[in-house]
Amino acid sequence: MKKINRLSDMFSEFPGIGPRQSKRFVYFLLARNPEFLDEMASMIANLKKEIRQCEDCSRFFQKNFSNSPICEICGDKNRDRTKLMLVSRDIDLETVEKSGSYSGMYFVLGGSVPILEKNPENQIRLKRLFSYLDEKAGNRGEADKLKEIILGMNANPTGEHTADFLKNALSEFSAKYGIKISALGRGLSTGTELEYSDAETIKNALKNRA
Ligand SMILES: [Zn+2]
Repeated sequence: MKKINRLSDMFSEFPGIGPRQSKRFVYFLLARNPEFLDEMASMIANLKKEIRQCEDCSRFFQKNFSNSPICEICGDKNRDRTKLMLVSRDIDLETVEKSGSYSGMYFVLGGSVPILEKNPENQIRLKRLFSYLDEKAGNRGEADKLKEIILGMNANPTGEHTADFLKNALSEFSAKYGIKISALGRGLSTGTELEYSDAETIKNALKNRA
């Protein structure tokens, strides 16, 4: 049973997965054929070799032939560089992107700031965000100048706390460069996570940002 327990412990480290579910994962795998397991094992083994982190927005993306350090969103010349949306996780970026209602740039914070957190700067990529902002706000032509930062957080207490923390952390920067800071309007009903919002809701939340 040792192997089963070890694997189930590993699954229980996944976000949102408890000990019971993690054990079910192990038994699920035991019931599948060897090809499925081999494919999965090799996908996991190669994940970090095939995926890299964008040097601009910090999202994970599949390496391409040019081996560019920048993802296809950051490299797309047709996107609106005057707007930057901050999101907590890659999955939030994907949801907004899929809604088709936003054509600006993104930055993935890699987490959120829980209420009562003593070291908020350790929970998100704050340092990296600041160097991104300094670089982008300082070195651009007038048409591409960053004008607005949109806080794309979840409509729950942690999301709201993260937005408040960011507003505060960015206040000096926003004053220095004359950048407006806005947050998604809550067409999202309270408690909703961005990840589970449909395209129409995201469109409205963008339209009603303040
Ligand atoms: Zn990128």
